[in-house]
Amino acid sequence: MFAEIKLLNLTRSKNLTNQIILLRSISLSSSNNAKDNYKLVVVGGGSGGLAVSSRFARKLGKNNVAVIEPSEWHLYQPGWTLAAGGVKNPDSFRRSESKMISKGVDWIKAKATDFQPESNTIVLDNGDKVKYDYLVMATGIKIDFDGIKGLKEALANDQQVVSMYSHETVKNVFPAIQRFKGGNAIFTFPKVPIKCPGAPQKVMYLAEDYFRKNGVRDKATVTYCTTLPVIFGVKKYADALMEVVKERDIKLNTQHHLIEIDYKNKQAIFERLDQPGTIVKLNYDLLHVCPPMKPFDEIKKSPLVDQTGYVDLDKHTLQHKKYPNVFGIGDCTNLPTSKTAAAIAAQSSILAENLGNLMNGKDANKAKYDGYTSCPLITAYGRTILAEFDYDGKPLETFPINQGKERRTMFHLKSDFMPFLYWNAFVKGYWGGPGIYLCYQKLAKNSREHRVYKVHRDCGVKSRLFLI
Ligand SMILES: Cc1cc2nc3c(=O)[nH]c(=O)nc-3n(C[C@H](O)[C@H](O)[C@H](O)COP(=O)(O)OP(=O)(O)OC[C@H]3O[C@@H](n4cnc5c(N)ncnc54)[C@H](O)[C@@H]3O)c2cc1C
Repeated sequence: MFAEIKLLNLTRSKNLTNQIILLRSISLSSSNNAKDNYKLVVVGGGSGGLAVSSRFARKLGKNNVAVIEPSEWHLYQPGWTLAAGGVKNPDSFRRSESKMISKGVDWIKAKATDFQPESNTIVLDNGDKVKYDYLVMATGIKIDFDGIKGLKEALANDQQVVSMYSHETVKNVFPAIQRFKGGNAIFTFPKVPIKCPGAPQKVMYLAEDYFRKNGVRDKATVTYCTTLPVIFGVKKYADALMEVVKERDIKLNTQHHLIEIDYKNKQAIFERLDQPGTIVKLNYDLLHVCPPMKPFDEIKKSPLVDQTGYVDLDKHTLQHKKYPNVFGIGDCTNLPTSKTAAAIAAQSSILAENLGNLMNGKDANKAKYDGYTSCPLITAYGRTILAEFDYDGKPLETFPINQGKERRTMFHLKSDFMPFLYWNAFVKGYWGGPGIYLCYQKLAKNSREHRVYKVHRDCGVKSRLFLI
């Protein structure tokens, strides 16, 4: 049926490009492949799902790997901060899913609704069942626009209430920044976990810089309201960001939890987490909201999750704690690190090695993930602090310079190089994070101390080289 609808559209379409896209999606759609059993099934065709499925399509060959993904579009979410600041066009961060899924991977265009890991079975929203030998969970996290009272109404009715957290709403952010001619500009950070915890303040720094460059900064109060007790979770970068907010006269309200927006009275209503029962009402002239996030319902009710609703993994091997043929990657997991695409890159090479070993009857515990994650903290147009750290919040910096400093090079790394890397290597399964460079840095440092062999072995340099 799906193929028939596509063919009908094809005959009507006069646009050659559209025809090519449609033809490709037909060749990838589940109805054409009609398989109900795969060696590897990946649930979710976002950043993690694409990186993993591409790697395994190369290892396992055609018709052995399937991605279950209902969406027509793949979204490069790290680009939304740049779009919100007017640096890039949001449409450049959205591509057709049919063009993103690697050759050799079957796309099952449906939603997984029920997981039966005891029988290696997934039930889809169209009623079909898919069986697997191995499963990778990569379903991401839900951005919950219903999680704040009045948010949806405010986004629909007040042009000065904005949120970069969807392809549809991100395009309203920069026009609102441009319209702002003074008063209170408020930027919010919800309760954790959220993806890319640095993002809510990046958009604030861009807006503040825009106000400065356009003569409205003197008439503006810029406030960052966060639920956290600190500006950022890792001390080195928190110290650097505190310098930035001090120097730029940005007001920091910690332990402020946005619970309601009253757009008719232009008020943002917060509860104080450090003073239970205390409500704070702030008037706004511009309000940027980061909505709360949570696991998708289908995942939360599955037997694959822990009590918080996230896929329950061994934090070093990325293997499921109860079902050894199940692995997970990215935002849907309970890995205690910041949820970022950078983390996923590093996880993808670890997962590929351990799952690949398991498939070959070898040790699935060999590669160990250290929690590597990264957040390019844009602090102005042309300035970025590149935070990189591990599970313990210990900086794991790629470059042999102090990354706690604002730098123009890091801004271009974020705005130009990273999108290029994402589209051309990451989603194709050729980018496993900067682990190898970190290892060679460590190697160089340690070789001076005559411990080359140990570091080489600790880092698993050989295998990472092979997998990248
Ligand atoms: C504003 C913003 C800024 C960011 N900035 C950065 C940054 O600077 N650097 C960085 O590294 N990261 C950044 N991130 C984070 C990064 O984008 C995410 O961590 C990453 O994209 C998550 O990838 P994922 O594969 O886990 O989930 P996603 O990419 O969200 O993909 C999950 C996929 O699973 C599908 N799915 C969900 N449920 C089901 C189901 N039941 N059945 C089948 N499919 C399902 C969804 O449709 C989706 O396509 C940012 C994120 C945002 C929102």
